Amino acid sequence: MRRLLLAVLAFAIVIVLSPLTQAAPGAVHCGKLLGVRSGKLLTDQVIVFDASGVITAVGPASSPLAPGGATIVDLPSATCLPGLIDVHTHLTGDPSHSGYQGLGISVPRQAITGAKNARLTLQAGFTTVRNVGAGDYTDVALRDGINAGEIPGPHMLVSGPPLGITGGHCDENLLPFEFHYKSSGVADGPWEARAKVRETIKYGADVIKICASGGVLSKGDQPGTPQYTLEEMTAIAEEAHKLGRRVAAHAHGTQSIKDAIRAGIDSIEHSSLIDDEGIALAKQHGTYLVFDIYNDDYILSEGAKVGMLPESIEKEKKVGRLQRENFRHAWQSGTKMAYGTDSGVYPHGDNAKQFAKMIEWGMKPIDAIQAATIRAADLIGWADKVGALETGHEADIIAVSGDPMQDVRRLESVKFVMKDGAVYRNEFSAK
Ligand SMILES: [Zn+2]
Repeated sequence: MRRLLLAVLAFAIVIVLSPLTQAAPGAVHCGKLLGVRSGKLLTDQVIVFDASGVITAVGPASSPLAPGGATIVDLPSATCLPGLIDVHTHLTGDPSHSGYQGLGISVPRQAITGAKNARLTLQAGFTTVRNVGAGDYTDVALRDGINAGEIPGPHMLVSGPPLGITGGHCDENLLPFEFHYKSSGVADGPWEARAKVRETIKYGADVIKICASGGVLSKGDQPGTPQYTLEEMTAIAEEAHKLGRRVAAHAHGTQSIKDAIRAGIDSIEHSSLIDDEGIALAKQHGTYLVFDIYNDDYILSEGAKVGMLPESIEKEKKVGRLQRENFRHAWQSGTKMAYGTDSGVYPHGDNAKQFAKMIEWGMKPIDAIQAATIRAADLIGWADKVGALETGHEADIIAVSGDPMQDVRRLESVKFVMKDGAVYRNEFSAK
């Protein structure tokens, strides 16, 4: 009995921890394929990729595209899409790390949590994430472990510790003075902030994350209150761009959103209290807005149970609905938007639940799908690599049954996941 149990366990571990197939030249045959640029559903398509997991051809299955001997994954009843992208994740955090409980979780422990969440995120069909804010450099370690093939997970762009002012949203404000503790990303003043940009890049950051305004889950501040000044953010954006990195700014507050856009920040995260002037500025500067409009539901229904501070729940009650209304208004006004969810505030793997919210608040299914593919790829600077199933892109392919353009919730149950030409999930083959 014990031996049987061990065998079953070993089998389960193999399935979960490693790709079902290793990268090799191959092809995927899709009954339907959603062209994310055109919004058209194509029938009977084949996607061919080489041994390094890069797409070499896409076209009708009737054409002789696949080289002889290539392994073909046959998904005749599926609808294929490019792997999804979430531009605002916190893979090394879980909802249970909220409030005072989070103080007991070590940095190495957070990295282990990250390994679990990287797998859950990939299994949910998100083959690329931009991780904006992690305890010290746990996300750098996670990215490197995934890239080395040691653990399964999405392609990651990572920020390391987010930059913020003393006592701000990106500082740790739960401990009294005698502990003399501050978060590793705290930097005040333009030059200290520049030095912190240099430091995070030195230790592996692909992108810079900053806290421009107060937040919901931090102690003692308000989402609408400005934190970094225009002068500080201008210095950060200039330094980061000079060193080839983009900047994402957490900004709920009306003033901070405008200051961040004027400073040259590349994306505004949350964007909750944006006004008409902020919308006009975002359009003028081509700044991406990232509205995380799903997690409000989770914070209000589960937040207290997982240890979020009572003040956080109160703040969410004030800001949640306004954020959704402003999402609709900003979208109808023609701003650029990318799909970011703030996973970690809610459980990882539920990333696709935001699609339905985006439809509820004014997008068409193709708009939301583009936000999570071509638009997200553009924001993160990987437009030539991910977000579309085209020659030269990574063979990051997901599939669902049915038509996500009719029912976007299909994306909540992705049945096939391929990353770089290797299969990580295939529920179609079970039948
Ligand atoms: Zn966040």
